[in-house]
Amino acid sequence: MKKIFFSILLILAIFLGILFWNYAKFDSLQLKKSEKGNDLVLGDSIAHLLAQAIQYKTVSYDDTSKIDYTTFLQFHQFLKEAFPMTFQTLQVETVNRYSLLLTWKGKDAHLAPVVLMGHQDVVPIEEVTRNKWLHDPFSGTIENGIIYGRGAIDDKINVIGVLCAIEAMLQKNIQPTRTILLVFGHDEEIGGEQGAKKIAALLEGRKIRPAFVLDEGGIITEEKVPGLEHQPVALIGTAEKGYLTLSFSVNIPGGHSSMPEPVTAIHVLAKAIDRLVNSPFEARFTTPQLQFIRHLGPEMPFVNKLAMANLWLTESLVLKQFSASAVGNAGVRTTIAPTIFHAGIKENVVPTNATAVVNFRLLPGDSPEKVIQHVTDVIHDTLIKITPIGKVLSASAPSPDSGWAYHLLSTTVKTVFGKAVTSPYLCIGGTDAKHFEKICNHVYRFTPMTDPIGFHGLNEQIRVNDFKNAVYFYYNLMKEM
Ligand SMILES: [Zn+2]
Repeated sequence: MKKIFFSILLILAIFLGILFWNYAKFDSLQLKKSEKGNDLVLGDSIAHLLAQAIQYKTVSYDDTSKIDYTTFLQFHQFLKEAFPMTFQTLQVETVNRYSLLLTWKGKDAHLAPVVLMGHQDVVPIEEVTRNKWLHDPFSGTIENGIIYGRGAIDDKINVIGVLCAIEAMLQKNIQPTRTILLVFGHDEEIGGEQGAKKIAALLEGRKIRPAFVLDEGGIITEEKVPGLEHQPVALIGTAEKGYLTLSFSVNIPGGHSSMPEPVTAIHVLAKAIDRLVNSPFEARFTTPQLQFIRHLGPEMPFVNKLAMANLWLTESLVLKQFSASAVGNAGVRTTIAPTIFHAGIKENVVPTNATAVVNFRLLPGDSPEKVIQHVTDVIHDTLIKITPIGKVLSASAPSPDSGWAYHLLSTTVKTVFGKAVTSPYLCIGGTDAKHFEKICNHVYRFTPMTDPIGFHGLNEQIRVNDFKNAVYFYYNLMKEM
């Protein structure tokens, strides 16, 4: 009896020993701010540059015939006048007429250049919300320290923010050590095929391999990371999810609704979509999520940290926790979202045809082929025709969470945002950065702004202070290169 008791005690001691050994080894990866600190001071009037940029309706539409391209040319003219030193000093190239590539030659031509990105185009205003905006979405109104308008956070903050920083550096007579390339695409919101992708191809042709690429994607949040509420967390995207849309169609002769057949197109398709939604892809941690856990786990309260340090034991529990919210779930799973359903033309006619469209966002490792196979197996119905439509993209290969580029981003966050901790993460939306993965293994996605409001939606806005911080971020980033 005594022997059994001591054996149990020993096993328990070993078990606890492993847990706490892992806990003790789970040390913080946070870096300190740079020695020099931020030496740029901006007045609030700088906000007018972003406000003016918002006034250009550089809206992109999937139906490209609706795009007003002359506005893009007017926007270029505005940039030229608003940033005179930048446009005189840097080499300016227009690519495919509306995208911009600016080159700022560094002192050391042997060093690999850095690519800083932003996009000129914005998403349209949904008609049903237009009269709910506090200010006209293209007025660029500044009120009570807030800049309102479409593009304030997506993505004119990046374009204007980096240009303000360069103009300030030129005024201070600072030249960067390594060459900086600015890439401002004109069609990111519709895939970036004609803009950023063409610029990436151009750079590839010139045999340029950037040291790193920085585009929009992650943000700083004080609300969204469980266990780290009230702690600013800067999320630096190290990869983005893939993209696939499938159309499902059924053709079964319809007829008069007074004598319906037992099987109809609507019924077959509805059941199939129901089966699909109820057969989710398996939840799992991929590299960017494991990087996230490794960087943020040590900053969390005791219990969370203990769980994160011992994934060998807690993995399924932690995965379950992630899966509980829509945003957490999107980080650990290939998602399934039915977005369009069409059938029928009249109340007393049983339709012959029913179609549905489902959008998938792919986790790294889930190839489009693998997803289509899973879907076909789940649907398991020869009456249903499955066809991919539009763009098909695998998830990106994750960039490293250490090394010069990541550390530079991390310390610059510290320099400007003080208390913030930094972490890699998986971007669940798409960005133009993906087009640069062919020519660079260090592709990061981060916009220096805190809990932005109105992303693709109503009353898009940014605080003047947040905009100034974005400029400070780019300024310090370029100075430290
Ligand atoms: Zn964007």
